[in-house]
Amino acid sequence: MHNHTVAELAAKLRAKEISSVELTGVYLDRIAQLDKTLNSYISVCSEHALAQARTADQRLQQGQGGPLTGVPIAHKDIFCTEGVKTTCGSKMLDSFIAPYDATVVSKGNETGLVMLGKTNMDEFAMGSSNETSFYGAVKNPWDTAAVPGGSSGGSAAAVAARLAPAATGTDTGGSIRQPAALCGITGLKPTYGRVSRYGMIAFASSLDQGGPMARSAEDCALLLSAMAGYDYRDSTSLDQPVPDYQATLNDSLQGLKIGLPKEYFGDGLDNQVAAAIEAAIAEYKKLGAEVVEISLPNTRLAVPSYYVVAPAEASSNLARYDGVRYGYRCQSPKDLLDLYKRSRGEGFGAEVKRRIMIGTYVLSAGYYDAYYLKAQQLRQLISDDFKRAFEQVDVIMGPTSPTVAFNLGEKADDPVTMYLSDIYTIAVNMAGLPGMSVPVGFVDRRPVGMQLIGNYFNEARLLNIAHQYQRVTDWHQRRPQGFE
Ligand code: GLN
Repeated sequence: MHNHTVAELAAKLRAKEISSVELTGVYLDRIAQLDKTLNSYISVCSEHALAQARTADQRLQQGQGGPLTGVPIAHKDIFCTEGVKTTCGSKMLDSFIAPYDATVVSKGNETGLVMLGKTNMDEFAMGSSNETSFYGAVKNPWDTAAVPGGSSGGSAAAVAARLAPAATGTDTGGSIRQPAALCGITGLKPTYGRVSRYGMIAFASSLDQGGPMARSAEDCALLLSAMAGYDYRDSTSLDQPVPDYQATLNDSLQGLKIGLPKEYFGDGLDNQVAAAIEAAIAEYKKLGAEVVEISLPNTRLAVPSYYVVAPAEASSNLARYDGVRYGYRCQSPKDLLDLYKRSRGEGFGAEVKRRIMIGTYVLSAGYYDAYYLKAQQLRQLISDDFKRAFEQVDVIMGPTSPTVAFNLGEKADDPVTMYLSDIYTIAVNMAGLPGMSVPVGFVDRRPVGMQLIGNYFNEARLLNIAHQYQRVTDWHQRRPQGFE
């Protein structure tokens, strides 16, 4: 049962071949048996899940089920969930129980999704390997010596290992696409403003975006329909109609213009990863697509400008964790300053502190113009590159990450090398565009992901392009050994 896609499970639930309580039980049993090795969940909420499953079964019995009613899902532990602990991967929020649900979660509940638990993640979503989590690293189901990617590494590992049919993730600089690539699943980062950020713990507010992680593009389409839409509680949510993402999955790719940015195929890209991407492009040609070489000349500015903008916003967002209102509080503070200093000093991990220090520095008087303002100007140049490219092509393709999954510990002590694993994904967030990662092969048993970048609000076309590839290939159906 656990090898079925979301679309297949939803059909089985509607046909009453299985109940949601039974299906939820299948996943809870697998988590209990297999997650000791992976550590992909921070919290598993069995009783809560079974109660939701019973309600879903009643709705299905009465013929009132929607397209996802009764399907289990895991939420990244960055989304606030009423009554169930939300940690954001941090000691700071180790005992935090949100008094409300994030919009993504409440929309899921309304459609009848069943929450199995909350997935592990890098602390406050800062990382590319899931090693900054207070709850310990997550292992990659394809090879437990490897990282699953980050920051949505728990979601990616859980979906790849069939410990959830699908999961939510968030992507500030690549955190849906990069772990999806490294774990061999399909992930979509929507256009900035497409999915509400209400109740999604803020890292860098102008970049953060939630989205679906699943095994297939078709499943991502189903989930995005449930997640997307205007939300008056998020001032950056955009009031655009939500299309039927499933309706266009089978549109033809005849005449599709694919842009291959030369900057995405240069130094630093692993040769075998490049070969897998080229083979996927050849497949697209067979489907009727044309390939055009393009240039995104400001690509090299993406990582440096991101590491000014994201820490700046993070330092401001994380100021709220002061030991007073909520979150971790140190023992017996001497005075208010001691309370602030020790609560933050003891509650945050090293990577979070590094970002707060960088962010505070670049925003400080005298440096603001030199760093923050400059980075915002570079951001505009990066967006302009994409704007010009989309005058020529319909979609941009390239690797999601320069290498396959690296070993646990390999980059943990070298922040700059770690930051470079997002070299192809970060520009997409800086521009606010939608991007996907799709499995296209393996190098030494470790999955390779291909990135598809679309124009604003073109999620339907991206899903269509990914789905057509998945109809003629089976990379997305492969199963990691030991988790079959
Ligand atoms: N790896 C990037 C960072 O650490 C992106 C993380 C993310 O997308 N949340 O900032």
